[in-house]
Amino acid sequence: MTNYSLYLHIPFCRHRCAYCDFNTYAGMNDLIGDYTHALCQEIELAAAHFPAHAGVHTLFFGGGTPSLLPLPDLAQILTTIRAHFTLTPDAEITLEANPGTVSLEYLCGLRALGVNRLSMGMQSANPNDLRILEREHTFFDVINAVKWARQAGFTNLNLDLIFGLPYQTLASWQHTLDLAVGLQPEHFSMYSLILEHGTPMNAWVERGLLTMPEDDLAASMYEWALEQLPKVGYDQYEISNWARRDSTGQVIACQHNLQYWLNQPYLGLGAGAHGYAGGVRTANVRAPRAYIERFSDSAIQRFNENEKLFPRTPATVNVTPIDRMTEMQETMMVGLRLVEQGVSATKFEQRFGKKIESVFQKQLLELVGNGALEWVGDHVRLTERGKMVGNQVFMQFI
Ligand code: SF4
Repeated sequence: MTNYSLYLHIPFCRHRCAYCDFNTYAGMNDLIGDYTHALCQEIELAAAHFPAHAGVHTLFFGGGTPSLLPLPDLAQILTTIRAHFTLTPDAEITLEANPGTVSLEYLCGLRALGVNRLSMGMQSANPNDLRILEREHTFFDVINAVKWARQAGFTNLNLDLIFGLPYQTLASWQHTLDLAVGLQPEHFSMYSLILEHGTPMNAWVERGLLTMPEDDLAASMYEWALEQLPKVGYDQYEISNWARRDSTGQVIACQHNLQYWLNQPYLGLGAGAHGYAGGVRTANVRAPRAYIERFSDSAIQRFNENEKLFPRTPATVNVTPIDRMTEMQETMMVGLRLVEQGVSATKFEQRFGKKIESVFQKQLLELVGNGALEWVGDHVRLTERGKMVGNQVFMQFI
């Protein structure tokens, strides 16, 4: 029986950063109490038709800024989850936190509630980068947050970093990386800045007020991370993720994100959350107020009378069936992101009853032929060259 994952979206931020296109809202903190109540209702309704005997092995509070949730709200959500789902004994429970929103007391409270992984949005150590991104924290806040997290007993910390920023130089990225490594987290996620349509930053670039770095410079920053991180004990296991190894030699990967990369099922709960379970992809209504309204007594009653088909909940606004071919394509697309393990031919055949080489004969011949993919035993994976053009490789499979 497959274990599931739960993603819980917390759509509140103190302030909206210039580059952000996530489903998050500033100035709506007065909705948090009602939102928590609605989220607990959604958890209950999603659990009602959950496959019998299936467990849940990862929870991920993402946002937005989940660390804005007061501890009693978080306690209520976790109690509801534990009452309605079977969490595996070693379940990974991650919460995204913004440095500057947490205190030692808050982090101790999180640990006491069972949160065992903290993902912190550091982004950069450089004050100019943080200002351009409109982040509200400083590197000093990151140092404090990491120190307090350790004091609170967190042994699994991730730091998020962004490179390829306007006016960022290779030297300043190297300095950020050095300082980040100095904080000794277990895990790093690093993404190149993508200008998203509709964000203030995109408008500034279009109006010539900000200049994005050349693609080559951003590529050099990524290559620097590829070269340096293994030297200081971080192995790359996914195209944008690096981690230390534990005492048994296992990479301390993010188990929740592995669920996505292995194309395994998860429920997306909360405003704007996306899920994948029961052969469909689901999307929830985005606006927090609209989300809360979907869990009024009358709306729940209507749902219970008409539509209670797993994995739908009253918040579901979009359901996309995933046929077998699409599932195979998506398995390749996300699985090849795992740069070490790639996609196992044996597991592919066990899951789909078809040989990977026959379903994707053309793509594999071409991509292995041009040096973007390689076979290592039973696994097909990206080469070093392939990592630099990962997105183009993934697109070949859909
Ligand atoms: S803190 Fe994160 S989620 Fe919130 S606005 Fe900034 S980038 Fe977006």
